[in-house]
This record gives sequence, structure tokens and C-alpha cells, in this order.
Amino acid sequence: MDARVRALESLLVEKGYLDSAAVDEIIETYETRIGPRNGAHVVAKAWLEPDFADWLKRDATAAIHSLGYISRQGEHMVAVFNDDETHHMVVCTLCSCYPWSVLGLPPTWYKSPPYRSRAVIDPRGVLAEFGTDLLDNVGVEVHDSTAETRYLVIPARPDGTDGWSEEQLMACVSRDSMIGTTLAAKPVAA
Ligand code: FE
Repeated sequence: MDARVRALESLLVEKGYLDSAAVDEIIETYETRIGPRNGAHVVAKAWLEPDFADWLKRDATAAIHSLGYISRQGEHMVAVFNDDETHHMVVCTLCSCYPWSVLGLPPTWYKSPPYRSRAVIDPRGVLAEFGTDLLDNVGVEVHDSTAETRYLVIPARPDGTDGWSEEQLMACVSRDSMIGTTLAAKPVAA
């Protein structure tokens, strides 16, 4: 795969369709500046500001863009909120569509065929493997991402975080909790 990508890139550069520096810049951006911290910022703000949470529910694309997190592929964002009755989990059964602008690069397991099939066949089994045990009365909704629509899970705010700052709350929000395979939790050190 590496060799194929290099061959494709060098051909595109040779034909003048692509600038190597631009490719490096995009990779560097996704490796260092765009990552789950962006999503954690969105979640913490939603926990703190009911108006922002409402905006996220109505128009997640605009609410997320307002924080400067712009999706380069022009996809629509949908924010799904976990509560006492429903747990949300995200997959792309067809390939690996992922909300890059808020979560950065997808983990390898997200792209793997076993996750993509089992997330819809046996979501509770997958959750258990991530160490996530839901109460029996909590329903699981699985959202299938597409090229047009990407989902961000807004996990439930952990108990015992009243009065916490946005920065402190962000530390509770892991990448996996925004994919919906785990829950948000207070950092172990806290
Ligand atoms: Fe996909």
C-alpha cells in the first residue's frame, strides 16, 4: 500500500496535479493540529452551554464550524446525544467515513471489517469488548456514516463534575467516547 501511494503521488506530482508540499502540510495538520481534542472541545462546550447544545442538536455542521473546525470534504455533521435511555455508537459499514474535522485520523479498528460488521450485528458485544457495560434498559442506536453525513456522539457528562471548567471537562472526553464505544469518564488522576 505504501509503495502504491508513493507511486500515485509521484505520478500526480510529475503531471502537475499535486504539490508535494501541500500533501505534507495536510498530513502534518491531521497529525498535530486536528484530532480528538477538537471534538472534546465541542462536547465540553455542549455540557456547559445549553444554547450551544441546542444549536448542535439543530445544526451540528454550523455549530461545529463556529468553533473553527471545518470539514474539508464538505460533509454534514450530526451530533447524537447519549442519555439515560439511549446510547449512540458510530460505524461506517461500507468503508471508513469518519468525522475528521473533530476526531482527526480514524483508529485502525474503526476501519477493520470485524468492527464494521459486528457494530451492527452485535453492538452490545462490541461495547462489552471495549469494557462498556450499559444497563439493560438503555437502548443502543448505531449510526452508519456516509460520505455525506458524519456523526459525533455527545457522551453523557460524568457525575461529580459540577463546577468543572471547560478545560477540565475536555479531559473527560476520549476519542472513543465520541465514537460511542466507551463513555466519558473523569480522568484517573482526578
Ligand atoms: Fe465510509
